[in-house]
Amino acid sequence: MLILVVNCGSSSAKYDLFDVEKEASLCRGSVERIGEEGSSLTHESGENGKIHRDLSCPDHHRAIEIIRDMITDPEKGVLKDVSEVTGVGHRVVHGGEKFNTSTLINAEVIDTIERFVELAPLHNPPSLEGIRGCMKIFSGVPQVAVFDTAFHQSMPDHAFTYGIPYELYEKYRIRKYGFHGTSHRYVARKAAEELGRDPGEVNLITVHLGNGCSIAAVQKGKSVDTSMGFTPLEGLLMGTRSGDLDPALVTFLMQREDLSAEEVNDLMNKKSGLLGLSGISNDMRDILGAIDEGNARAELAYDVFVYRIKKYIGSYAAVLGRVDAVVLTAGIGENVPRIKEQLERELNPMFGGSTRFMSIGTNEELLIAKDTYKIVNSE
Ligand code: ADP
Repeated sequence: MLILVVNCGSSSAKYDLFDVEKEASLCRGSVERIGEEGSSLTHESGENGKIHRDLSCPDHHRAIEIIRDMITDPEKGVLKDVSEVTGVGHRVVHGGEKFNTSTLINAEVIDTIERFVELAPLHNPPSLEGIRGCMKIFSGVPQVAVFDTAFHQSMPDHAFTYGIPYELYEKYRIRKYGFHGTSHRYVARKAAEELGRDPGEVNLITVHLGNGCSIAAVQKGKSVDTSMGFTPLEGLLMGTRSGDLDPALVTFLMQREDLSAEEVNDLMNKKSGLLGLSGISNDMRDILGAIDEGNARAELAYDVFVYRIKKYIGSYAAVLGRVDAVVLTAGIGENVPRIKEQLERELNPMFGGSTRFMSIGTNEELLIAKDTYKIVNSE
């Protein structure tokens, strides 16, 4: 059974076509710079290698048409006919308090995702455009939404509640939501497999270190706390995001640097983190390169990055009581073994040597495909 996974961002549409029974990706790619000058398509399949095409793509609807045409291309495509696609799985960032699991899309689900645009103004609109495009272009094919927030909906209220007037929660649903849920869920399951244990009996701390970074306390298969919050800004230091800081800095910067609310938001989301501290790059490879050349600010950025992870692991160990494994994943978590080694060395005395430190490759697309397959099959 073939499932197409679609992940629409503000100016991109990524796709991945899976044969779910074989857990194999047949082809994948992305349309980039949607709605801008110089749009392009990159497509990769086992049979035909990688291709790159410059084209015009004014919106996400057109991007979905381009994807359909590519996967059914008589020469470079992998399908004879679009009807071979039996389900489409969409990555949706924000499912609010409504969705705690992946969900078959109907008009009511679309309305609800639309309501959460207020909570994720940058992320939910392109997802909606992708969903609407696919409903027209893959007409009659069931569509499933897989939410970044869903896995963390199991957090207890004392973990997700902020210490501000409760009326603001009631009015705007201001609370911790957490993100990267699909990745945390995927690696938690894989880690349990690797430990040879049932996911429902292990306690894990999962650490997603990509451009965005977040950490989750996973108790018996359920997320009970996570570092990202109302937005993805909270928590760990990231490529360009500050992570935790004193919220009084917002008004201080507005007053002293004469910044607007939007400018402070921009500073904390796009100019901080590894980039802001090092002054070099948001990319860990560049930071490691600069450290090798003796750059002190790159070293400070790296030290802040790792120290913050260590502190969170300590606090989640307190939340969980017993920790069977700490699991690192995503670009940095999978490729920079020295972080895992340092954490293991420094935290082992606290854990008494009973906690495994492991690195596991994440695959959010595969989990989206599997969820979609399950839901489509049960209809
Ligand atoms: P995204 O969140 O965009 O999916 P990724 O999971 O691809 O991001 O992670 C991107 C981060 O991973 C970047 O900081 C990049 O430098 C880092 N990274 C990827 N490969 C390596 C590597 N071989 N060595 C060090 N860092 C790497």
